[in-house]
This record gives sequence, C-alpha cells and structure tokens, in this order.
Amino acid sequence: MGKIIGIDLGTTNSCVAVLEARGTDGEPEVKVIPNSDGARTTPSVLAFTTSDERLVGQVAKRQATTNPTNTVSAVKRLMGQRFDAPEVKTQAASVAYEIVEADNGDAWVKVRDKQMSPPEMSAMLLTAMREIAEAYIGEPVSEAIVTVPAYFDDAQRQATKDAGKIAGLDVKRIINEPTAASLAYGLDAKEAERIAVYDLGGGTFDISILEIAKGVFNVKSTGGDTHLGGEDFDIRILEKLSAEFEKEHGIKLLEDRMALQRLKEAAEKAKHELSSSLETEINIPFIATGESGPMHLERTMKRSELEILTRDLVERTIEACQRTLDDAKVKPEDIDEVVLVGGMTRMPAVQKAVKELFGRDPNKGVNPDEVVAVGAAIQGGALGGEIDEVLLLDVSPLSIGVETGGGVFTKLIPRNTTIPTEKAEIFTTSVDNQPFVPVHVLQGEREMAADNRSLARFELTGIPPAPRGVPKIQVTFQVDAEGILSVEAKDLGTGKAQTISITPTSGLTQDEVDRLVGEGEKFKETDELRRELAELNNQAETLIYTTDQAIEGYSDLLEPEKVESIKADVDALRQVLAGGSDIDAIRDAYTRLETRTFEIAEAMYGSEGESDGQSEG
Ligand code: AMP
Repeated sequence: MGKIIGIDLGTTNSCVAVLEARGTDGEPEVKVIPNSDGARTTPSVLAFTTSDERLVGQVAKRQATTNPTNTVSAVKRLMGQRFDAPEVKTQAASVAYEIVEADNGDAWVKVRDKQMSPPEMSAMLLTAMREIAEAYIGEPVSEAIVTVPAYFDDAQRQATKDAGKIAGLDVKRIINEPTAASLAYGLDAKEAERIAVYDLGGGTFDISILEIAKGVFNVKSTGGDTHLGGEDFDIRILEKLSAEFEKEHGIKLLEDRMALQRLKEAAEKAKHELSSSLETEINIPFIATGESGPMHLERTMKRSELEILTRDLVERTIEACQRTLDDAKVKPEDIDEVVLVGGMTRMPAVQKAVKELFGRDPNKGVNPDEVVAVGAAIQGGALGGEIDEVLLLDVSPLSIGVETGGGVFTKLIPRNTTIPTEKAEIFTTSVDNQPFVPVHVLQGEREMAADNRSLARFELTGIPPAPRGVPKIQVTFQVDAEGILSVEAKDLGTGKAQTISITPTSGLTQDEVDRLVGEGEKFKETDELRRELAELNNQAETLIYTTDQAIEGYSDLLEPEKVESIKADVDALRQVLAGGSDIDAIRDAYTRLETRTFEIAEAMYGSEGESDGQSEG
C-alpha cells in the first residue's frame, strides 16, 4: 500500500506532510515536505495565463500584479458557498478576480472567459501538493487525509471531498484542522489533558476544546467563523489606505484592479512587519496617475494603529472562544494548554488577547504553519497501519434539522454532538392519498428554516394511497466521522426501504465531478508536455551556445568539412526550436547535435593530451 499523505489545504498557504520511518530505532517521524523551491508551505494561489497555462503556488503569486484578474487566491472561502451569501459579497469587493453566480446559485470564479467552480480550483492546489509529495516519496500517491476548518458545514465539506476526487485523490478522511493540530501536539500525551486549539489562518477562525488521553482525542466543542481571518486584517489596512488616498487626491484606488492587488500585497506585508516591529513603512510607487503625473503612496504605520483598526476582529475571536467554552461546559481556567495555529497567531495583539482570556501563555512548541499538515500525516499513518490507531472523536459543528410547518427549523442533531451519529424521525402525509412527502434538510442555528443553510431537498416517493397521517416513513439522518450527512428512509408500514431522490441545493453533481476528473487528467498531460518542452528548449539553447563556442575556439583542430556539417546540425536544431512545439523533432535534432559535440571534445582533449605530454617530456 502506498503512503497516505496529509494535506493542509489552507486559504493562504497549503502544506503537505507524510509519516515515515526514520533513524536507527525506525521510530516513525513526520516529514513536512518542501516544494521545488525548497519552501515548506506553498501559496494557495492559482493563475491562468494568456497562453492557457495554469500556474499554481509561488509562480502564480509572483505574477499577480501583472495579471490580477486571472490570479485567484482565497478560493477556500468560496468552497460550498452560495453566490448571494454576504460573505461572498465581502470577498468580491476585496479581490481583483471576478466572482460570478453559477447556474445552481453557487459562487464560482470567472477567469479568461471560463467559469470555474471552487472545488475545481481547489483540486488544482491538491494536485500540486500531491506532486510535491510524489517528488519526495519517489512513487505515485493516490490517498490523502485533507483537513478542513472545524466550522465547515456539510456543503463545504462535500465541496472539499469533490476537490479531492477531481484531483484524482482518494480522500481517506476529512479531519478538522484543530483536531489535526492537537494530534500533532498531543500524540505523546500520557496524562489526560484538556486543551484549547485557537486557529486563526488566512481566511477562517476555529476554536476547539479537546480532551486528550492515551491516543483518544475527544473533541468537546468547536466553534468559529469561516469568514474571519488574516484577509480581513489586510482588508482593514487596505480600506484605510485607499480612503486616505481618495480624500487627499480624489482618486478611488479600489476601482483599479491592479492598484487593488498592489494595495493588498502592501497591506499584508505591513501586517507581517508589525508583528515584529513597532512601526513600518508602506511604500507603493506609481499607484495612480493624476493630472500632475504619476502618484505614489507613502506612509508609516504603527503597530498600535493596526491594533485599533482590527480590534473588533480580535474581539470576535475571543467571543467565539467564550461560546465554545460554554458549549463544552468548562471555564478558561480549566484548560491545561492553549495551542496556537495559523499564521495570524504571530500577531502580538492576538497572542495577548488569548493570554488574557485563558490566563496562561499559549504553547509555542508547535510551528503554527505546519502543525495541521503534521497532524493530518499522523492520521494518514494511523490509517495506513504505520502507527497505532488514534481515535478521533469529533463533533458536528452545526445543528442539522428539517423544515417543518410554517417554515420553522426543527433540529434533529444538535451542534457539538459527537460523530459519527444518527437520528431517526417519522414523517407522514398531510393530505389524503398523498403519494410523496417532501423533506428539506438544513444546517444552522437560527430558528427559521430560511435563515439556515439549505443542504438538500428530497422526496419520499411511492407511498401507497392512504388517509392523511396514516403512512409512517422513518427517515434516518446519519453524520459520518467526517461530518458528512447521508439519509436513509424506510416505510414502517411495508418495511420497505424508500426511494429518496436527493437534490443537493448546491455543489457539483456526480456528472460534473466526473467530467472535471477527466479534464484534470487532460491538463496534467498537457502540463507535463509543456514542462518537458520548456526543459528541452532550455537544454537545446545551452547546447547550441556551447557548440558555437567550441567551434569558434577549436575549429582548427577539426577537418573543415566536419566543422561545416556540425554547423549544419546546429542550424537544424535552431530551426526546429524556432518552429516551436514539435517535441520529437527537437529531441531528434538535439540528440544528433549532442553526438556531434563529442567529436569536438575528442579533438580538443586529444590535442590537449598531446601538448601535456610534450611539456612533461
Ligand atoms: P495560514 O492560513 O495559517 O497560512 O495563515 C496565513 C495568514 O497568516 C495570512 O493572513 C498571513 O498574512 C498571516 N501571517 C503570516 N505570518 C504573519 C505574521 N508574521 N504576522 C501577522 N500575520 C501573519
């Protein structure tokens, strides 16, 4: 069996790790796998170029300012989201790419005249992470553990699973990021401990309270906000800068996509610097052009100013912590250890707020950027049988229920119920001889159905004619260990299983997923071909250059006809290169010329050998 890798699919950065046997004692150790640039995390950024090339990671991030509308970041925040969700509107206002409404009402992204679903885009990131792992492990990888924020609802989890399928990965399990972090942290915990995992990443905030004892990880409660993260801190800085600029010069920077992208990068950079310095310079030359020529944005920002601008955001995380502590029925002082996860926890104001709430210094023993991937790799190793099984007892983050009379939301599985779990409910007809019963499943905490997240609508069909209220259909709602819902129905009158036709209210259909799997493979082939062609081009140009040099320096050692025929081979290679894309022709011409250069080398070294001999003699 191949390795099961652990992938932290982050809003801003992603990270991949694997469990491997190491050292003389062969004790398994988790290896965080560096990408081809040597970096241990990879920016979760995608770009689509004019030549229809797809870029992922640092290369995509690097070209963002020159190709802002076709560079996509923070796609995780769009996973499983409806287009009309307020969070999607906020995101649309702060990114340079276009967010559009898909036919099914979901939020998709439009790049280069093509609409793409968030799972399809996340699949590109997952593929990149898989390739990083394959390059390190040296064999194909087909299985993975992928992490999601604990607060992700069913639709967001489904979207993540779809992304895995499209990337050709068998996602063995989706686990919650804080649970993964606690796995990385607490694997060796001997004594029972109660820990809080505070995870503030680029796009989401999660807080979980867990009890850990001897390989059992029991999540007591979880809470958070899928739309609160580092990006919001950046937006505060960006809005402040653009408002000031408009006041001073009357120019709206946010309306210019390129200016917006540059402002965003400068804002994030300032935020990072203010974690270690008390003051930073923000400097964006040529941000706009006014009547008197090019204009620059220059300004100093103090740490205190950033803290004031973002105080309410930090406060929101603390309020969520308090709710989650209440849910677990514990007080801050009952927590033995606080673990920080996510790049944003490097901000001093965040650390201070956490310390104030829990009355203790947070644990800094784990790297906040890698800990989630490390935990996922441990879970992968456990499922792969490399280490002892760890028992993860997660909870469902939001209540699941159905719509009942008058549009009321009736909860069946309350939030923070340990999963897997199931709940059965009896449904009946409301008029005589009604052949079907419609059921609308939702997830959320609000009282009215319309205010919650619609997961699926289905119909219990084929009900035999009977007076109203007589048929009894038992519907069982199951939430699996990954927090994903499935439904089964049984007619209690006949004892027969009921046919249910589920129409998910969002997400991709199976057909769409299958089509995208195929497309992903096609892109993989063309991407590989493109890469091979680029490498071959590079080698060929080097060969032409060195051969030209060698002919210039050593042609007197060769017969004139030979020189001419080598030159002809150089020209032949040049010509196929200029022709562009015929990889076989380039390869042939390359191999031919390469053999010919050996003749020059032989003549060179042969003659040098002679001269050496002479000088010694
Ligand atoms: P993650 O999703 O865990 O990779 O978190 C990324 C977020 O952390 C982004 O919003 C980053 O801007 C932010 N971040 C990373 N390093 C720092 C730092 N030194 N200070 C403040 N924020 C940071």
